[in-house]
Amino acid sequence: YGDASQKIDYVFKVVLIGDSAVGKSQMLARFARNEFSLDSKATIGVEFQTRTLVIDHKSVKAQIWDTAGQERVDILTGEKGGIWSDFMIKEELITLLKVAFGLGTNVDFFSAVGGSMNRYRAVTSAYYRGAVGAMLVYDITKRQTFDHIPRWLEELRSHADKNIVIILVGNKSDLEDQRAVPTEDAKEFAQKEGLFFLETSALQSTNVENAFMTVLTEIFNTVN
Ligand code: GDP
Ligand code: MG
Repeated sequence: YGDASQKIDYVFKVVLIGDSAVGKSQMLARFARNEFSLDSKATIGVEFQTRTLVIDHKSVKAQIWDTAGQERVDILTGEKGGIWSDFMIKEELITLLKVAFGLGTNVDFFSAVGGSMNRYRAVTSAYYRGAVGAMLVYDITKRQTFDHIPRWLEELRSHADKNIVIILVGNKSDLEDQRAVPTEDAKEFAQKEGLFFLETSALQSTNVENAFMTVLTEIFNTVN
């Protein structure tokens, strides 16, 4: 899994996005360290991990960024996790209302909202800056996480480079008996939007390597 002494020809930044608990961090752990944990802790803030690999005799350092909306929710509401998913934080109007209800109409309301929104925007743009690939992850057992994909795509397209390589990933394919998203629905959506698509299991290590390699190889091909 990578040799620190080798010379690096390329560094590719890839971002992981999708609702909370779909398995983004475990996909990254599987890809970067070949690890998996069932009681995975919610990601704190933004972090990235790297793995260096060889594509077509060139060494490519994949820098994979992982984040969690919960921590952003903390900034806004003081709540941890709860019903607020990574997706809901993107709904600025809902957030404004939430803060409004929490703080009433006192003077602090405006400064609190203004400060939170600026921090949210700063985190979001730093996260997408320089990204050449993105993995849009949902959980095949949770329909809502798939229904939110168009919104994630919208955010990606408004913040990231227009040539960013995107793969749609349906994770937790090991839980076939709890499937709530038919493979065909996702395949059709991906085709319509021009995205790569794969179903993965970070738990069983199915297609995780394949999903990352699909993105990295496509990026490699576009720069060569
Ligand atoms: P994140 O919030 O998107 O980063 O999600 P995590 O990576 O923290 O995973 C959330 C939960 O789903 C954890 O309990 C993981 O162990 C579990 N999980 C992640 N990937 C899989 C998978 O492929 N199969 C199953 N069965 N569980 C998974
Ligand atoms: Mg996480």
